[in-house]
Amino acid sequence: MTGEEAAARRDILRIGALLHQKGLVAASDGNISVRLEENRILATPTSMSKGMMEPDDLVVTDLEGNKLEGRRNPSSEMAMHLLIYRLRPEVQGVVHAHPPAATGFAAAGMPLNQALLAEVVLALGCIPLAEYGTTGTPELSATLRPLIPHYDAILMANHGVVTYGEDVMKAYFKMETVEHFARIALVTHILGRQNLLDREQVGKLLEARQRYEGVTSAAALGPSCPVVRDDRGALAPPASAALPAANGAGNGAGNAKRRW
Ligand SMILES: [Zn+2]
Repeated sequence: MTGEEAAARRDILRIGALLHQKGLVAASDGNISVRLEENRILATPTSMSKGMMEPDDLVVTDLEGNKLEGRRNPSSEMAMHLLIYRLRPEVQGVVHAHPPAATGFAAAGMPLNQALLAEVVLALGCIPLAEYGTTGTPELSATLRPLIPHYDAILMANHGVVTYGEDVMKAYFKMETVEHFARIALVTHILGRQNLLDREQVGKLLEARQRYEGVTSAAALGPSCPVVRDDRGALAPPASAALPAANGAGNGAGNAKRRW
């Protein structure tokens, strides 16, 4: 084993412990992977707590998901990691978890795409929501595929979050940023107001983003990413106010008023 691979195994164990300790996963949820070589991916195994792994619990697969090394089996969620490695050649690490606040937004059908925090606009632009797809099937890959080239963090409807970057630690820190942002966004929903940054302020941040060390997004962000004050009006109530009533009376017509 090369020193580089040993270091990657240590990084994955450390991130697994952090995901577990911080409550970003439960039971055997989540998975972490590192691209060792073009066609060699080191990943966490299926059915195991990511906080309780040993270095030799990890598995090595090729880019098609075939196991090359390891006594345990790869996760069915590896398909998502492999899709990201195929579509984003510069990505070296992927983290998938079920952080409670961000996954709550994903389960509510709400992306985290509001220009609420300068640091989040700088780091991620915004975090879109991929439509629901069954885990480990081509259905999920199809919903993620159009978003992966444009974003470094994606909410998956009724499921969780995936983040990726030029190394696995950066991918993990993006997961922390997404969950932290989701908690802050949730507070604005509780307060009933969101004072979004305006288009000019966001434009400056997006310009700075191009120069920001570590930003490796392969393509420009989507057209309404992030949603700015000019789109919604100053001190607007959170867009969730336009959601249909939770009693089921709404049939989704309220969505037409939403900007996402
Ligand atoms: Zn999952």
